[in-house]
Amino acid sequence: MAKILVIEDNAANMKLASLLLNNAGHYVLSAIDAETGLTLARSRQPDLILMDIQLPGIDGLAATALLKQDPLTASIPVIALTAMAMKADQEKSQIAGCDAYIAKPLRYRELYRAIDILLLKEKTPRVWLASISEQTPASEKAPSSEKAP
Ligand code: MN
Repeated sequence: MAKILVIEDNAANMKLASLLLNNAGHYVLSAIDAETGLTLARSRQPDLILMDIQLPGIDGLAATALLKQDPLTASIPVIALTAMAMKADQEKSQIAGCDAYIAKPLRYRELYRAIDILLLKEKTPRVWLASISEQTPASEKAPSSEKAP
């Protein structure tokens, strides 16, 4: 069981994330904007943060950058959640300091896997876990060099 902070402004997405996390035995803290989330992260020291990228006011990328600059919160793994599985969003998430990236809608296997890996690797240097995503755009798949029989 871990203490997980979810920062998400959409009520339906928050409900789903909370349900999935509760079902996995985690304790959930929630914030509907980055300012509240940053305050909770400092005061409650969650084991992990699920960060929506599109938030009113400070967005999820800026909020992650702030978390990673603050010694009180820098070591907390952040999983970026975004509506679009775009390469550009993935790269921006990485630059902002997110530890992993998953696309919404949330799929429980992908979510649980990302959480398990990050909680296990908590004490190791930050690793980029883009491979968690099961989705690979067709254009990025390596062309096959094998000839058909
Ligand atoms: Mn949002």
